[in-house]
Amino acid sequence: MQWVTHYDIAAIIMEIIIFGYTNKLFRQKDKSSVYFLLMLIFNLVATVFDLVTVYTYVPVEQGKIPVWAGYLFSMIYYYSENLISPLLYMYILSLLNGRDTRKIEKIWFYCVVIFYTVIIFTTGMTKAVFYFEDGVYTRGPIVALLYFIAYMTFMACLIITIKNRYRLIRSQRIAVYSFICFVFVCVVIQMYIDNILLTNYASTVSLLLVFLSIQNPEIYKDPVTGMSNAKSFYSTVDIAISNRKKFTSIIVEIDGFKYIKDSFGNENVEELVIHIAGRLSERCRKKRLFYLGDVRFGIITYHDDVIMITEELWEEFAGQISVSEINMTMLPLICYVNYPDAVLSSNELASVIDYAFTESRDLMNEGTLCIGRDFLTKKQRQLAISHLISQAITNDGFTVHYQPIKNVKTGKFSSAEALVRLIDSDLGFISPEEFIPIAEKNGKILKLGEIVFEKVCKFLASGSAEKHGIEYIEVNLSVVQCMQANLAEKLISIIDKYNLPYSAFNLEITETADFVNNEMLISNMNKLLSKGIQFSMDDYGTGFSTSDYLIELPFKMVKIDKSIVWSAMSDEKAFKILKYTVAMMKSLELEIVAEGVETKEMAETLINIGCDFLQGFYYSRPISENAYIEFLKK
Ligand code: C2E
Ligand code: CA
Ligand code: CA
Repeated sequence: MQWVTHYDIAAIIMEIIIFGYTNKLFRQKDKSSVYFLLMLIFNLVATVFDLVTVYTYVPVEQGKIPVWAGYLFSMIYYYSENLISPLLYMYILSLLNGRDTRKIEKIWFYCVVIFYTVIIFTTGMTKAVFYFEDGVYTRGPIVALLYFIAYMTFMACLIITIKNRYRLIRSQRIAVYSFICFVFVCVVIQMYIDNILLTNYASTVSLLLVFLSIQNPEIYKDPVTGMSNAKSFYSTVDIAISNRKKFTSIIVEIDGFKYIKDSFGNENVEELVIHIAGRLSERCRKKRLFYLGDVRFGIITYHDDVIMITEELWEEFAGQISVSEINMTMLPLICYVNYPDAVLSSNELASVIDYAFTESRDLMNEGTLCIGRDFLTKKQRQLAISHLISQAITNDGFTVHYQPIKNVKTGKFSSAEALVRLIDSDLGFISPEEFIPIAEKNGKILKLGEIVFEKVCKFLASGSAEKHGIEYIEVNLSVVQCMQANLAEKLISIIDKYNLPYSAFNLEITETADFVNNEMLISNMNKLLSKGIQFSMDDYGTGFSTSDYLIELPFKMVKIDKSIVWSAMSDEKAFKILKYTVAMMKSLELEIVAEGVETKEMAETLINIGCDFLQGFYYSRPISENAYIEFLKK
């Protein structure tokens, strides 16, 4: 037979090139790298011995090469060729890290490998796979079975991949599908045109594809710092966890990243990151370091040296640094997480790190934060609430309560604050202080704000409030809502829908640093003001309390936060501050609302220093629509 061997030769060249790039893989001890390397090695051996057997058929027949050598070459060929499909099978299972491999799945692998080993290496006696008769190579009866097992294994690979497709990233899925399809097509071609040696070429091209998209060590590297990246961080974590090996991951972030970026530009941030990466590598020379993005780094240690490392980090990173002639003060935020005390999977780890850096930054200002199991519980509650918010939006699950506000001058309750309520059958009453920030983060606050506003309009349109002398309702607006370009148009259209006077609304906005000079907010406010809607500055005293805010923005009222009111009642200095603040604001012709009035004495004191409106449990808690009407009737 005239053999076409070009494809095998091309395959060998390609394999050698891939090997040239895989030296780093040898150092990676994770299972998928090991299986990948084994596939590469057996594939190379199979390709070489495919050629060797083809070129030695005739010499063996002519007696120039002994028959035992012919057996040896063919056995090596068959063995290495057939091991590729079970190795691919194990490779795919190892890619699905985090998912426990079922015993039965591993059993298939061992059975196949044992069967191959026995059947191929005893073929000299059994003549099952092949044999030489008078020096002539002849295929045995069992070759078809070998093909069948290989097909079955490829099918199993395909099924497992499809079943677990959401566990693999896109590039992994594509690589695995193409591997299977390509090998399948080539094997079919080879079956019909059996003088073209095509199968090894097919598996080599497929391995190249897998290498480029999955196993390439470069994809575990950050190009800027040269450090291992987040992908590598989590895969290292996965490996440790699958080996039940205790470890601690320490995360360091340089605070004020956004500020640094805005003030000094992207290029300087890159410089800064490189600078810090360099210093970190110097300090923690013997540790596994990772760059996790922005100005965040990770360290994984398997020893009892967390305290020592974090102390070193504080020493290294707190203080002045200068990068590209820019001087800045750095504040490191450092936390650490233990496996298995605090987390049990890489997903949980990612989740608590995320939670710590969004919700507990303040704690890290003070010192190193140890992330415990409770972080996961908190994060899970946050997720549950986030889910509840979405549900309440679609199922009309929010209600609005009203807390009456007393006008000191007239002695009447002529306004009220609308406060949103969310009650869940499992979690019970959830405070807006807890769910509003979550809604702000997941973007649901816009819809939520609209729902509350519409409910207030519906209530006002029913006429019962007006009948009892209600002049206006105060509605809270979130910072996020105020950043919305079409906020004014949206609110106006809702009011118009219910045919209500614009003067029936007072919008409460909380001061924040982001707001001073915020054009979007000012334009929204002006549009609404021109219609006759008024504004209150909410939570005065809790935030930045810049007078810029009062000067720049057209507020009619200021609401003094309950915490300020309360501390004024127990502390003389605080009382003086409150008294002069009220006087100062009145001189700016602002009206003052004090919230958190809980006792008669508090009410009297606040009236004495000149507050215009009072709100608090002393008069009424926030109550339902009906209860509010009843309250007004009295
Ligand atoms: P806030 O704007 O400061 O609202 C006043 C909060 O103080 C209300 O809490 C009210 O129940 C409480 N309060 C009033 N008087 C007293 C008192 O005498 N003693 C005590 N202990 N508490 C008093 P609530 O209803 O839990 O609301 C918390 C926060 O959630 C609000 O603080 C507001 O920032 C936010 N919020 C509530 N409803 C909405 C809404 O519809 N939209 C937005 N964006 N935020 C809302
Ligand atoms: Ca308020
Ligand atoms: Ca408040």
